[in-house]
Amino acid sequence: MKALSKKRPSKAQEKTTGIGKGNPSKDVLTPEMKKWLKVQFGERVKWNEPMSRHTSFRVGGAADAFLSLRGIRELKTLTAFCREKEIPCFVLGDGTNLLVTDAGVRGVVITLSDGFRKIKIVQDEGSVVTVRAMAGARTRMLCRFAIQKGLAGMNFAVGIPGTVGGAIVMNAGSPRGCMADVVEAVEGFCSDGRIRTYPRNALDFDYRGLKWAPGADATPPILLSGLFRLLRTDPESLRVEASTILAMRKKRQPWKWPSAGCFFKNPFPEKSAGELIDQAGLRGRRVGGAMVSERHANFIVNTGNATASDILALAREIEETVWNRFKVPLEPEVKIIGA
Ligand SMILES: Cc1cc2nc3c(=O)[nH]c(=O)nc-3n(C[C@H](O)[C@H](O)[C@H](O)COP(=O)(O)OP(=O)(O)OC[C@H]3O[C@@H](n4cnc5c(N)ncnc54)[C@H](O)[C@@H]3O)c2cc1C
Repeated sequence: MKALSKKRPSKAQEKTTGIGKGNPSKDVLTPEMKKWLKVQFGERVKWNEPMSRHTSFRVGGAADAFLSLRGIRELKTLTAFCREKEIPCFVLGDGTNLLVTDAGVRGVVITLSDGFRKIKIVQDEGSVVTVRAMAGARTRMLCRFAIQKGLAGMNFAVGIPGTVGGAIVMNAGSPRGCMADVVEAVEGFCSDGRIRTYPRNALDFDYRGLKWAPGADATPPILLSGLFRLLRTDPESLRVEASTILAMRKKRQPWKWPSAGCFFKNPFPEKSAGELIDQAGLRGRRVGGAMVSERHANFIVNTGNATASDILALAREIEETVWNRFKVPLEPEVKIIGA
């Protein structure tokens, strides 16, 4: 059973997205490393940056260093340095599917969400149009772009927060579809410093995830962009559909409180995690400032002063209660990272 057992948080952690390894328990940056970062990126490097500022849960301890990259040259320079010095480097999207522990993240956290945001049509075959969206573009901007240009295929993602990079890595979706339905290829920055294009058949999407097919780089690449195959249609029908979807999401989801969306994956297509949590009597259950939403039982919300430990403790309790009651294992959809 894949469970959030007492030891689960460290097991579930993605300590890094792969570039360099290090001691997870203390600041891994030496004064020389900090000096180098300062020389290269100046005041843009934020030291001991609280991750609560960069996650939709609004919790999480500090990252040793945090940097928003402006372009590919900076990405190359930084990742080469991290690799050489074995500094962990974590790629953040918009932090809408993350729970960062209270101990924070060792090494460098980077984001592409300021410097990698372009969206454009790269091929127009009349009825079929290919759009390139850079990884740091917001998914909502891609949805809006598609609606404005009259391109069908993206409306399933209307209302899903976060970046295009995060959405591809998570295979984000809804009952109407998921990224795997529309992604034709992705461009990735590999650990050897090269940029490679991965066609759809090299991408092994599954439920809320993306595995890299055998033969691909051992370390998952940093996604730079995605190519989306969309179908030309009438923009007005897309607009009407999108506003219906948004209204439904607003009605069903607890949008007033910080959260990371659905906390657990649905264990079966016919039975949602939310239904099981509800039937286990956990709606409204609280640990510290964390609460099982009254509106949607698969949302853990931060009622204002939650810590990551509160959220993890509540998640463990949910998992144990559902297991004891129904013998169904729940697995987090939210990625848990940090020291
Ligand atoms: C209110 C709310 C509603 C939500 N509803 C839905 C929903 O309906 N459906 C759904 O699927 N999800 C939903 N989510 C979850 C979340 O929005 C999606 O998973 C989203 O696509 C994550 O994008 P992000 O940019 O925030 O990624 P992050 O949370 O920042 O990161 C997620 C993972 O992607 C990796 N990553 C991000 N960018 C890159 C990159 N460029 N290269 C390599 N790795 C990268 C990170 O390292 C991390 O492992 C919801 C969340 C909230 C808060």
